[in-house]
Amino acid sequence: MSANVYDIVVIGGGIVGAACAAEFAAEGLSVAIVEARMVGGGATAAGMGHLVVMDDSEAQFALTRYSQVLWNELRDELPSEVEHDACGTIWVAADDEEMAEVRRKERFYSERGVSVEVLDAQALAEAEPNLRRGLAGGLRVPGDSVIYPPCAAQFFVGRAQARGAKLFIGRAVEGLKSESVRLRDGTSISAGLVVNAAGSWSPELTNDLSVKKRKGHLVITDRYPDFLRHQLVELGYLKSAHSVASDSVAFNIQPRTTGQLLIGSSRQYDVDDARVENSIVTRMLSRAMDYLPGLGKLSALRAWTGFRAATPDKLPLIGPHDEHERLYLATGHEGLGITTSVGTAKLLVDQIMNRIPAIPIQPYLPSRMAPETTARV
Ligand SMILES: Cc1cc2nc3c(=O)[nH]c(=O)nc-3n(C[C@H](O)[C@H](O)[C@H](O)COP(=O)(O)OP(=O)(O)OC[C@H]3O[C@@H](n4cnc5c(N)ncnc54)[C@H](O)[C@@H]3O)c2cc1C
Repeated sequence: MSANVYDIVVIGGGIVGAACAAEFAAEGLSVAIVEARMVGGGATAAGMGHLVVMDDSEAQFALTRYSQVLWNELRDELPSEVEHDACGTIWVAADDEEMAEVRRKERFYSERGVSVEVLDAQALAEAEPNLRRGLAGGLRVPGDSVIYPPCAAQFFVGRAQARGAKLFIGRAVEGLKSESVRLRDGTSISAGLVVNAAGSWSPELTNDLSVKKRKGHLVITDRYPDFLRHQLVELGYLKSAHSVASDSVAFNIQPRTTGQLLIGSSRQYDVDDARVENSIVTRMLSRAMDYLPGLGKLSALRAWTGFRAATPDKLPLIGPHDEHERLYLATGHEGLGITTSVGTAKLLVDQIMNRIPAIPIQPYLPSRMAPETTARV
């Protein structure tokens, strides 16, 4: 084999590309990972790391649930810097209308084997004493957890390298051909298959991909180890995540193993500028303080932004490009790519190895978006 010939080239060393590379290498395939900047430095570094089972659609549930099972299987192998914390989620209901949503979610999850617990107002106050009084209740999902995503991406790349994968770091892919990729420095890497896992940059490499940037803001505080026990998400979050017309913010807060509190989050389309916007941060913090009044006395250390890679139907693109059979896509994971990275990797490897996947693959196949996607060759 000449130096630059591989079975598979994975473009992008975010958590999705990294998980895919580890899975391919575990199959004994020769793998190259090409990362333009740093491993786990894109949306993966910006995200919250909430491993969460979601119920927006059956397909979203299937992928998040499958992925959660895979994360649980990995748990004992994750190094301490991945900071896996089985803190669980509480979906917070502000009023009776949101309590009705709690009951709907309870039925949905219970019918599908996910353990959940309905909390009334008193149980919610006992579970999270810093929440304001007067909230209606909530739904606790004890199986959800939290990780530190950049270290998880590094863990997957390390696994791939231990099985012989080659990492091209600080090397940007400039163009794809059906059997090779061309790097900006002129290097050509030949491969049987190419995987575009470049997140919100993936449309720059594959023309007219149905993936748009969706900007998000986060704020992190100083260390307050006893302030919070669960990841808390307002039920209004769903309205915000669905709103495609306008900027939205919703209360979403996470306890880190460091004792810090990670406060989210916002969603904006059609904004390319990565700068932190004070107006959005102010809205986010005031929403958070509405639920947790004591936050106002704590110190925030830093705010940052990241870009989710969003598809029109809020499901990722996992599988072969419909026109270029050697090009595979693993992108469009929007706000769930940390959770679904491991499921994505399994589904992709199953397709490539011609195996029957553990969950139906159809909802995630790029061909559902045809005829919009065409590869830049
Ligand atoms: C504010 C916010 C909060 C979030 N919270 C959560 C959460 O709690 N839970 C969850 O599951 N998900 C969450 N997400 C979503 C999650 O972060 C993303 O879905 C996930 O990180 C996507 O990973 P990726 O590997 O596809 O993309 P990225 O992490 O962006 O990686 C893509 C990589 O490709 C590289 N690249 C780009 N172009 C090229 C090129 N030409 N050549 C070589 N390399 C290239 C980039 O440098 C980058 O490293 C959140 C996202 C945001 C923005």
